[in-house]
Amino acid sequence: MVDLRSDTVTRPSKGMLDAILAAHVGDDVFGEDPSVNQLEERTAKLFGKEAGVYCPSGTMTNQVAIKAHTQPGDELICDTHAHIYINEGGGIAFNSGVQVRLLPGDRGRISAAQVAENINPPFDWLPRTTLVCLENTVNRAGGSYYTLNSIKEISEVCKKNNLKLHLDGARIFNALIETGDSAEETANYFDSVSVCFSKGLGCPVGSVLVGDKEFIKKARRVRKVFGGGMRQAGFLAAAANYALDNNIKRLKDDHVRAKKIADVLKNASYVEELLPVETNIIIFTLKAPLTSQEFIAKLSEKGVKGIAFGKKMVRFVTHLDFDDYQLEETLSALKGLN
Ligand SMILES: *Cc1c(COP(=O)(O)O)cnc(C)c1O
Repeated sequence: MVDLRSDTVTRPSKGMLDAILAAHVGDDVFGEDPSVNQLEERTAKLFGKEAGVYCPSGTMTNQVAIKAHTQPGDELICDTHAHIYINEGGGIAFNSGVQVRLLPGDRGRISAAQVAENINPPFDWLPRTTLVCLENTVNRAGGSYYTLNSIKEISEVCKKNNLKLHLDGARIFNALIETGDSAEETANYFDSVSVCFSKGLGCPVGSVLVGDKEFIKKARRVRKVFGGGMRQAGFLAAAANYALDNNIKRLKDDHVRAKKIADVLKNASYVEELLPVETNIIIFTLKAPLTSQEFIAKLSEKGVKGIAFGKKMVRFVTHLDFDDYQLEETLSALKGLN
């Protein structure tokens, strides 16, 4: 079975499992796990930040960041498609008591002008705008990515208005591989970046939140309160260290394969609209009366799994365990549904 439901369905490779078995570990709540410390330092350095904190999930790195940047009653700004708003169980309200100003961006990407227009003036009766969150690439908008220049413009608006800027970088390496921008230069515009290892990088678990020393100190405390303090987490961090060495450059292959799937979908009789495919995510809507559930069931009979994003929307994500052989199977399954 070909599984294109998500880039989280990958299993650790032989090399990654070897790295896990060979990991040096200790109690990370005491700060004594060498593999976790190595991963946090490496990730921070790669993104030009002072420090990092390893968490069990990208949801936790985002939620810890939001909590550490805000006070209850504050307002944060993000795009309508944002994972932090749609896919984190209401965590912004639940964990931080913060409300959200949703902006309709261009395929998930908000602009500096939009941010500037939506900052509340400092009246007692208005929530304090304190944080802007960007997502790169944007999951629900088909893997679109920001240009460095638009990030820079947003960061200037934030600095001018005393707002913190957080990046949900669940797929930041997909964006960087595609643009060729440097991780350090990109992260320099943000106060914090969540870097995910369980998506395109093929790890079983984990994300690292990076930022300055003071912020990460606060984030570490919040992580513990949220129940994210782990003990011999080095076995997990070892997988992420392995992924940093081996699984970044190859993301380009995922993008090439995604574009090949897009080429078939462009000409498919059952597709109403296909979002531009820029990285490893493919999102399309189906022509009525075909529903996503029916389409997914038919495709699954042909050996390929996708995921429904609403009644008529379907998503595929290419990943580490999806090779050229599986690509051919997928292309012929999709053509077979015409
Ligand atoms: C997957 C994802 C996350 C984090 O997800 P976890 O499953 O909690 O690791 C955050 N943001 C985006 C855009 C994602 O796709």
